[in-house]
Amino acid sequence: MAQTTAIFEAVRTADTIIIHRHQRPDPDALGSQFGLKLILQHAFPDKKIYAAGTIPDDLSWLGHADDVADDQYQDALVITVDTANTERIDDDRFSQGKQLIKIDHHPNDDDYGDLSWVLPDASSTSELVVDFVNEHADALTLTRAAAQLLYAGIVGDTGRFLYPATSSHTFAVASQLLATGIDAAEVGRHENELSRGLGRLMGDVLANITIDETGAAHYIISQQQLASLSLAASEVQPLVSTPGRLADVRAWLLFVENPDGSYRVHLRSKGPAVNELAKSHHGGGHDLASGANAADMVEVKEMIASLSQLMKEWQAQ
Ligand code: AMP
Repeated sequence: MAQTTAIFEAVRTADTIIIHRHQRPDPDALGSQFGLKLILQHAFPDKKIYAAGTIPDDLSWLGHADDVADDQYQDALVITVDTANTERIDDDRFSQGKQLIKIDHHPNDDDYGDLSWVLPDASSTSELVVDFVNEHADALTLTRAAAQLLYAGIVGDTGRFLYPATSSHTFAVASQLLATGIDAAEVGRHENELSRGLGRLMGDVLANITIDETGAAHYIISQQQLASLSLAASEVQPLVSTPGRLADVRAWLLFVENPDGSYRVHLRSKGPAVNELAKSHHGGGHDLASGANAADMVEVKEMIASLSQLMKEWQAQ
């Protein structure tokens, strides 16, 4: 049985479905989670369908999570979207259901779940949710409200159709979503707007990022800087792609200091794959977009040196 058919069968026979996604969600995590929830609710109004996890204020325009009581997990089908590994699933109760299904577009390094459907070439998990609906079009409908969320997910994960994973199929899916009557401009506005603090930080990133002779770049955002701009660490996500706008920058690390002095690291590249570097620092992700963690400045410096080395090796090829 094809994976999507098996997933549809699991959905059809479950009374309770709880959808999880990764911690520190982005528009694709939330778009695919809420989009799938609305689609399943529309098709199966008698089922109990929940979206679990915590949502940062700046993404509350995408929707709100449900309060899911512990006992709901007892006979539930749990679906995770957009989450490559179990450690990153928001809300540990994901393992307490009757069955676990993974739907994702990251490299499948951790093939968890009773069933999984993972297409690393897809632009986004939101794109996969549309594919899932299309494969079961006799039972599932792409409602306008769901389409708006899924479009937001695709726009988010493709950097507005800019990144290499954007395929002709991505545009076909986006076209299908627009045809439902969504307000694509509103999504674009939400994903384009910056707070004053973030605007100031963006200016500083562009003006003061360190770029070496290989095109490897880094910028460190301290707790002090965040406090002076009244920003939460979770709000800097829109800046992660900013260094790439500089022509001299080929690959970059954006470090964000945590309150305990450790660092959350965002790795991005226009050339060499950076996910192996991410994996060696408690992270992972896509070839050109990964996340990791650094315990202290010693590890920060190690990562800066490793990226430079990676660039040298890539240029020597
Ligand atoms: P970020 O830099 O947080 O936007 O993450 C970039 C990509 O790497 C996303 O697709 C994440 O899902 C993935 N990623 C981030 N952190 C981790 C991690 N600790 N482990 C595995 N994948 C990660």
